[in-house]
Amino acid sequence: MDAIIVNDLRKYFRKIRAVDGISFTVKEGEIFGLIGPNGAGKTTTLRIIATLLKPTSGEVKVFGHDVVDEAKIVRKLISYLPEEAGAYPQLKGIEYLRFMANFVASSEDEVEEMVEFGSEISGLGDRLNDKVKTYSKGMKRRLLVARTLMVNPKVAIMDEPTSGLDILHSFHIRNMLKDFAKKYKTTIIVSSHNMLEIEYICDRVAIIHKGKIVAEGAPSDLKRELEASNLEEVFMRKVMAYE
Ligand code: ATP
Repeated sequence: MDAIIVNDLRKYFRKIRAVDGISFTVKEGEIFGLIGPNGAGKTTTLRIIATLLKPTSGEVKVFGHDVVDEAKIVRKLISYLPEEAGAYPQLKGIEYLRFMANFVASSEDEVEEMVEFGSEISGLGDRLNDKVKTYSKGMKRRLLVARTLMVNPKVAIMDEPTSGLDILHSFHIRNMLKDFAKKYKTTIIVSSHNMLEIEYICDRVAIIHKGKIVAEGAPSDLKRELEASNLEEVFMRKVMAYE
């Protein structure tokens, strides 16, 4: 089944064509990567799928539901991690998870289940009892990724989940996403500047440049097609061809 369908999507901010007619489909249980240079239109696309931004034209459906006309239904299916999300510094990690779970859970038991699940996903152990303001950047991001996944969404939308993190924290988050998608058949759409990461976790990718898709497919197929040794090479060649 198709989890996300994006059809001829456009988003213009006055004269800026942030997204300029892109189409792609993400199947249920797939991890789909959006890669592209700064300003390519990745965040704009993710924010439209997350119902936070209205398209100028075109159509986006999440499990058959339109992100504009049926935004309320779509919000129940998705969980979104923004690129620059923050957690409340004065709360302990565990309190933050509980605070966020309260928005979505329908009973106290469900809140506790989510918090337990989130704690496990975060891998932060005893540090969850410390205030968020004492966390490193990597620990904060792990907490936020756990918050995004603990609600067990049908679709997780992750904008640069490992941005600015060291190898160890990135490694943890990458594996967390991969294991999670496999275990719960969660559909994940993720943006990143890290080509190795995208190659490692994604089933398929779309390379976006200046609001348009310039290549799409499984990393292995794209590499074979271009006789490239890694995704970075594919990326460079595709993007340079459109300069
Ligand atoms: P990055 O990798 O740097 O995060 P991106 O691919 O996520 O980039 P977007 O944030 O989607 O890119 O931005 C695409 C274009 O749209 C950019 O030119 C940006 O300046 C513009 N843009 C994004 N949001 C707005 C806004 N609210 N108002 C005006 N222009 C915007």
